[in-house]
Amino acid sequence: MAMPFDVPRKPSKDPNKNGTDSRATGNGQDSAGHKRVMPHCKACTDFKTWMELTANPRREMSRKEREEKQCPLDSSLLGNNTWSFLHTMAAYYPAKPSAEQQYKMVKFIELLSDFYPCHKCAAHLREDLKTFKPDTKSNEALSQWFCQLHNKVNVRLGKAEFDCSKVLERWRDGWEDGTCD
Ligand code: FAD
Repeated sequence: MAMPFDVPRKPSKDPNKNGTDSRATGNGQDSAGHKRVMPHCKACTDFKTWMELTANPRREMSRKEREEKQCPLDSSLLGNNTWSFLHTMAAYYPAKPSAEQQYKMVKFIELLSDFYPCHKCAAHLREDLKTFKPDTKSNEALSQWFCQLHNKVNVRLGKAEFDCSKVLERWRDGWEDGTCD
């Protein structure tokens, strides 16, 4: 899906090459008549990459500080918050959903893959969904499905896989040793 900020461009050090400020005209085109391109999509990159891509030097900020200051989400914070929601939603999905509930959940996941604001993540998700269809027959099945989906992303990012036998402990019941009680 084409988005106005699909093309992150590293600004040139030569100010003349950055001369067409697409934000200046406000009519969807820059002063040279080219299609407007928004500077960069914060939610598409992690904060470090975003700092490298933007023209103005910005100071380093830790994830904790960004959260405390309520800054816009980068791809990492967006992902973390979204997974929290998705796994929790799956855990509280009905044990015996109706046909309509199952239909709506499949639709919800499809729509998520259309509108997820990290566009490269959304593109990966659309690719995954072609071969890895949501299992919506119960809360346990859906939780396992989201766990495996999340693990696909973890593997892609070089992160450790999560043990899916513990997904409901993590997102609904609390750890078996009582840590969360
Ligand atoms: P997260 O991966 O966000 O995990 C949060 C918590 O979930 C962890 O602390 C852990 O307790 C638990 N957890 C971890 N794995 C699982 C699992 N398999 N099942 C259940 N619980 C688990 N980022 C990219 O750079 N490229 C992408 O293509 C990309 N695609 C994404 C697609 C989707 C649908 C989403 C929601 C996010 C995507 N992200 C992507 C973001 C990425 O997955 C992480 O959210 C982000 O890197 C931040 O990671 P984190 O270390 O905070 O932990």
